Amino acid sequence: MIQRIYQIKRALPELFELEKLIDTGHQHLRVSVAADISFDDAQLPASLTLPFYVLETGSDAPLAPTLVLIGGVHGIERIGTQVILSFLRTLLRRLEWDPAIHEQLAQVRLVMIPLVNPGGMWRNTRANPNGVDLMRNAPVEAQHNTLLVGGQRLSKHLPWYRGKKGAPMETENQALTETMRRVLTQQKHCISLDCHSGFGSKDRIWFPYAKSLDPWPSIAEAYALTQLFEHTYPSHDVYLFEPQAHAYTTHGDIWDYLYDDYCARQPDGLYLPLTLEMGSWLWLRKNPRHLLRYHSFFNPMLPHRHQRILRRHLTLFDFLLSAVRSMPGWAPDNTHSKTLLHRRAIERWYPATLNSSPGNSQT
Ligand SMILES: [Zn+2]
Repeated sequence: MIQRIYQIKRALPELFELEKLIDTGHQHLRVSVAADISFDDAQLPASLTLPFYVLETGSDAPLAPTLVLIGGVHGIERIGTQVILSFLRTLLRRLEWDPAIHEQLAQVRLVMIPLVNPGGMWRNTRANPNGVDLMRNAPVEAQHNTLLVGGQRLSKHLPWYRGKKGAPMETENQALTETMRRVLTQQKHCISLDCHSGFGSKDRIWFPYAKSLDPWPSIAEAYALTQLFEHTYPSHDVYLFEPQAHAYTTHGDIWDYLYDDYCARQPDGLYLPLTLEMGSWLWLRKNPRHLLRYHSFFNPMLPHRHQRILRRHLTLFDFLLSAVRSMPGWAPDNTHSKTLLHRRAIERWYPATLNSSPGNSQT
């Protein structure tokens, strides 16, 4: 037991921190382990088993609007887990003294899955211990040609490996799917935010689809949420809201899969699966020493920058908690408003399709 604690503190401080927060905040949290992730490591005498934790707080009413925060899908992107732990730490401390946060959580359910891929994070790899990229592993085929980055089945020794064709999803993705189905059952208003790092020099908020260049069905609602944030926080202009496919298209995106799964089960519900992609290239540019370490492509290395990133996204998490609660107030609630917002979304994100539509044809 003591040896496990020592090993985790050294190799996986995020899990050590998470378990400390679970311990100190237990009276406010409903904690479960959705899966045990077992793997071998060359440096260990026996295989290791790590927990896939799911934390819930706030309302447990079946119909409460639900926000889900996810991190650590890619083991190398430790900062995604760390920003959620930072938020959780602040939340638990506010619960000690702030009645406003109790009142807010009485109306909302907050679910946190801070470390989806503990084996990958232990090994400091993007993939899980089986060599599978969990963001390329869902049974979803891209509708357009993808590059290698979009997922490949050639070898688990190359990045972006999807897993064997026809095989069940990896244990981590099965646990994620079961958890999302459970917490979103009957939910009419849900948002999730999956925290990643490593693409571009700007922080991006991506919405689906990853599989298609075409607009996804909830783009009007994505536009309404974007407007709400930009209007409310005009000085916090750190995010670029856009469809993920503007960056690249992929096979096997778990959020494409879970969005379609949700819509099939609850066609009258509204679920916005978002991804926060922290732009780590900016950290590289400011500190060329990053280029010497693989890990540093995905994580801030300097203490002051690390602290800045931990606090940078607290505003976004607070916003989403309020936004999911008030979703019926800002999401389009009739065909007319949905059509109007859909049109604005197309103008913002797909202007080329307007020019090429039959009504605009010059021929
Ligand atoms: Zn990632």
